[in-house]
Amino acid sequence: MTRVVLFDIDGTLIRTGGAGVRAFARTAEIAFGKPGGTRTMRFHGRTDTSLVREFLRLHDLADTADNVDRFLATYAFLLDEELERQRGETCPGVTECLAQLRARPEPPVVGLLTGNIRVGAALKLAAHGLAEDFTLGAFADDHESRNELAAIAQRRASERLGRAVAGHEILVIGDTLADIECAHSIGARCLAVATGGDSLPELLAHSPALAVDSLAGLPVERMLSAGAHWERPTDWEALYQARDTRWDKGEPTPALVDFLHGHPEFTARGGTVAVPGCGRGHDVRAWAEAGFEAHGFDFAPTAVVEASERHAGLTNVRFCQSDFLADPPPAAFDWLFEHTLFCAIPPGRRDDYVRSVARWVKSGGHYLAVNYLQPQDHFGPPFGATVKELTTRFSPHFELVKHWVPRSFPSREGRERCFLWRRR
Ligand SMILES: [Mg+2]
Repeated sequence: MTRVVLFDIDGTLIRTGGAGVRAFARTAEIAFGKPGGTRTMRFHGRTDTSLVREFLRLHDLADTADNVDRFLATYAFLLDEELERQRGETCPGVTECLAQLRARPEPPVVGLLTGNIRVGAALKLAAHGLAEDFTLGAFADDHESRNELAAIAQRRASERLGRAVAGHEILVIGDTLADIECAHSIGARCLAVATGGDSLPELLAHSPALAVDSLAGLPVERMLSAGAHWERPTDWEALYQARDTRWDKGEPTPALVDFLHGHPEFTARGGTVAVPGCGRGHDVRAWAEAGFEAHGFDFAPTAVVEASERHAGLTNVRFCQSDFLADPPPAAFDWLFEHTLFCAIPPGRRDDYVRSVARWVKSGGHYLAVNYLQPQDHFGPPFGATVKELTTRFSPHFELVKHWVPRSFPSREGRERCFLWRRR
């Protein structure tokens, strides 16, 4: 349940058309005699105080409280001027989003988590009639690190509500990787909006709870529940018992069938293979029939029983109940095969998943994955992932041998990608 919503300002609520950057540049010239003195600096996702310190360092100026204060006082004055000249625009959907939050039966606390100094934030929001919407905030005057600002905002929200507010009750809305990172640093969820700094694929690669092109048209219920489902593990056993197993196509995945028939250079030698999340064991059977000693694992006891019965005629298959994310491997395997498992686990446990794969595959062994790719998060499972996220996560442990678009079941066409990795 989201009790606190914290908004970033620039690129999330408003786009000032560079008013802040111009005010910084003019301050460098007017207050410190450094024309062009901020030209090489990157502003995106940064806090004002960290930018001032970088400016002082760049120009061998003393990093004193006096210099920081002098810079920021001049900056605030010039920012006001710049905003009057060009105030920019409110980001799409922001006004409606704030109105919907206010209209909730139990409105969440709506605050700011921003790299702006307090007075800069007030000036920017006032220029767009948004100053009244926020009842608490953490600003660059409080700390120069955005992650620390997240912790400060959490503390202030706890004071406001008169109880400790947990990270998962907080939704941070922002437009850069720095916003996602600071949300994660306090265990909060991030709704990433591609209306400012980073593109949608860049944002998605850093696992926000939800990423959208803009807030326009996003129902407030969807916004407030972003990622809330992530921490709720699916009750797989109940689904098997209810025979609600729509993901089970009754046969091995076409991508695996093609791989086992078309790549003797990898498969001719056979070996042992682990298939975590094997369900009723169709893929395990395909590996066994290709000459492997195949081990299927599933979290749901009913799946394991059904798989064992179904494939009882094969001598080179074993099925075992196991929590792949937590249990130690029964052996180090030559191969590990995955299909519909990575996309089925709560994305907050993806680090555990990567660790497990690395533990279960022996050095020099192979990990073959048929991953489900989606450009956008939606209510999972399956949960979306991107090629970039997958390569970033697995590369430290595995060398990517090849990846390709496989043949898929009709309903999954174009959404799957095969990755063949070798354990380092
Ligand atoms: Mg921003």
